[in-house]
Amino acid sequence: SNSILKVENLKKSFQIAGGLFQKRQHVNAVIDVSFEIEEGTTFSLVGESGCGKSTTGRLITRLIAPTSGSIVVDGKEVATAKHSDLKHLRQTVQMIFQDPYASLNPRMKVKELVGEPLEIHTKLSKAEREKLVLEMLEVVGLNAEQADRYAHEFSGGQRQRLGIARALITKPKLIIADEPVSALDVSIQSQILNLLKQLQQEFKISYLFISHDLSVVEHISHYIGVMYLGTIVEIGRKETIFNDPKHPYTQALIASVPIADPTLRKKKKVLIGDIPNPKNPPSGCTFHTRCPLASDICKQVIPEMKKMNEEQSVACHFVN
Ligand code: SF4
Ligand code: MG
Repeated sequence: SNSILKVENLKKSFQIAGGLFQKRQHVNAVIDVSFEIEEGTTFSLVGESGCGKSTTGRLITRLIAPTSGSIVVDGKEVATAKHSDLKHLRQTVQMIFQDPYASLNPRMKVKELVGEPLEIHTKLSKAEREKLVLEMLEVVGLNAEQADRYAHEFSGGQRQRLGIARALITKPKLIIADEPVSALDVSIQSQILNLLKQLQQEFKISYLFISHDLSVVEHISHYIGVMYLGTIVEIGRKETIFNDPKHPYTQALIASVPIADPTLRKKKKVLIGDIPNPKNPPSGCTFHTRCPLASDICKQVIPEMKKMNEEQSVACHFVN
């Protein structure tokens, strides 16, 4: 099958001013990220906040420019493309955000909000745009009579449906969803996740799904990449990641997912300590300050990503 997105050795460092004398500091937000998404599937990036997963999403949409690496979207390299050459990217990829309210202009009517991308990206007439908007509202489970309302008149879950309608209306092939259900009640979360799955089947959409919440990720993913301090430490099929996690960080994350019957999970490994400051990351394997298996080599040598089999790759010195 075809790949809709292929990211290779992606890197992003920021210069920030901080500390006592506002000294310029170098932060490696994304150190070395590689993964691929097959058409019509969902790939999730998981990890604690600050691990670089949102930055990775923003790099792929070129909201920010990468320091180095390759981003191939639907067959075209976009990492080095100039802003004026990003038309194809803007038509192929759309984003859904955590807080639909913040990303929806409160002064615009629903039909303007949802139709705005068509105004920007197509030459359709106003009447043609409105027709598509009304259809799209039904597709996401709202109704056409709501087109003249304003976003603030909707509940959180309905607003996320509006965000989805707006993202979907230009028929993108890939949607990057950054914590799209984190702000919603659990009961509403599953409605939105089910909608995203249903839309995937209907329109063959691919998702890059960004979340800190493994129970959400379990519901939606085909593949999962686990991120820690700017790198992917394990990548695999969802079933493999949940049933046979190999990296000590993945094992700790999986063990922390609340489940009804704890005997179903393997021996519990608890994460100790906080995430180190990304401005001053640990040497060698960046996970060594929290890893129960860490030894001397871990402090000195960065572990390379090793392919265990067709479905799983792991970056740890002690996983063979
Ligand atoms: Fe732990 Fe060492 Fe493996 Fe890193 S390389 S995860 S510190 S055992
Ligand atoms: Mg984030």
